[in-house]
Amino acid sequence: MRRLCRLLLLAALIGAPAPAVAAADTEAPPRTGFEESNGARWTTMEEEHAFLAAVDRASRRVTVEQVGSTVQGRPLHLARLGSGHTVVLFICSQHGNEPAGREACLTTIRDFAFTNDAAVQRLLRTTTLLFVPTANPDGRAANTRGNADGVDVNRDHVALATPEGRVVARLFRDLRPDVVHDLHEFGPTPPFYDKDVLWLWPRNLNVTQRVHDEAETLSRDFVRTAVEAEGLTSGVYGIWVDPETGEPIRQVAGDEQERILRNTTGLKHALGLLVETNVDPNPGEDEPAAARRRVHSHLLALDGTLRMVTERRVQVELATTLSRLTAPLNRGPIYFLGADNMPPDPSRVEPNPPCGYRLTGEQFTQVQETLALHGVHSFRTRDGGRLVPLAQTARPMIPLLLDPRAEFEITQGVASPRCQ
Ligand SMILES: [Zn+2]
Repeated sequence: MRRLCRLLLLAALIGAPAPAVAAADTEAPPRTGFEESNGARWTTMEEEHAFLAAVDRASRRVTVEQVGSTVQGRPLHLARLGSGHTVVLFICSQHGNEPAGREACLTTIRDFAFTNDAAVQRLLRTTTLLFVPTANPDGRAANTRGNADGVDVNRDHVALATPEGRVVARLFRDLRPDVVHDLHEFGPTPPFYDKDVLWLWPRNLNVTQRVHDEAETLSRDFVRTAVEAEGLTSGVYGIWVDPETGEPIRQVAGDEQERILRNTTGLKHALGLLVETNVDPNPGEDEPAAARRRVHSHLLALDGTLRMVTERRVQVELATTLSRLTAPLNRGPIYFLGADNMPPDPSRVEPNPPCGYRLTGEQFTQVQETLALHGVHSFRTRDGGRLVPLAQTARPMIPLLLDPRAEFEITQGVASPRCQ
């Protein structure tokens, strides 16, 4: 029934006639451990593997492949649906103790694999949907925020010290998503920070204006609308608001750090979206009901993203394509700090960026793999060193990786005014 409701909702969002829900194949669609228990427990990793294998086997519409392995040897999976030009990547539960997003991703993969709904089939002709259903399997198995080494994967999208972070970087480089929807959960602080769902776009100032603005539109106009249309509340992640006036009173999270996926996404020319669902039970909710509400909240936000790519496909692709294509030509300033809601300190702005950064041969050996995963190109210099020119698609990332003024640089290059 929940699945039927979801598909009806999606059809309404996309503006299609009511769907006929029927299995695309003869095998009955598999169910998650979360569904089987009606929200009393989260799907185990073993159940997830069996579930994904069953979906992959039963539906020609979905392929599931292993794209990496964790510290403890668990597989990292990628599920792929559709073949369209617009690419949407869902990164589900990077934080292992925030499980609701993962459940929403698993059931969406299954529902889209099996439905005969014309609107979904149309969507999949124009859009490629990619899911990393569990982006931190060791953390999920242990119910910890970090991975098996205790590293926060969502602070690793510059350094790429974790296998989980490296997989995500490779997907960005090779599959070039237009939208990256990152699913999390948060603990509220009533009455200032207590919405059902919070959302946020990339705040980093090195993100192209058009990509930034489309990402903000995704959060404010599409995810908010999809969530609030169902009677849930939503707001900006990281901002406490006055419960009477709704005015912002304090920022507690959601900054411009380039190593957070939401920002890295913008720096890699895609619309970034962070979605966080409220983990505390509402009055009258028992734990399973709260868990179901958390998963349902993620499903609504996910529908908001799909509606955005349906209604604003041209604007989205224009923003991401122009951002990629014009990056090598960009001569604009580089910001080492400062966010879209915090003017940068002039001392942390480089108004005249160098032509590139010089690395010694030894430095290059240390960071070669990381640069390659970020899609950064370089060439050998006559002295046996390496030059990384800024004039390339990865331009927004390069100073943040190599400039000594960056907060999370992987090595300290020497700014070079010339590239000969
Ligand atoms: Zn999180």
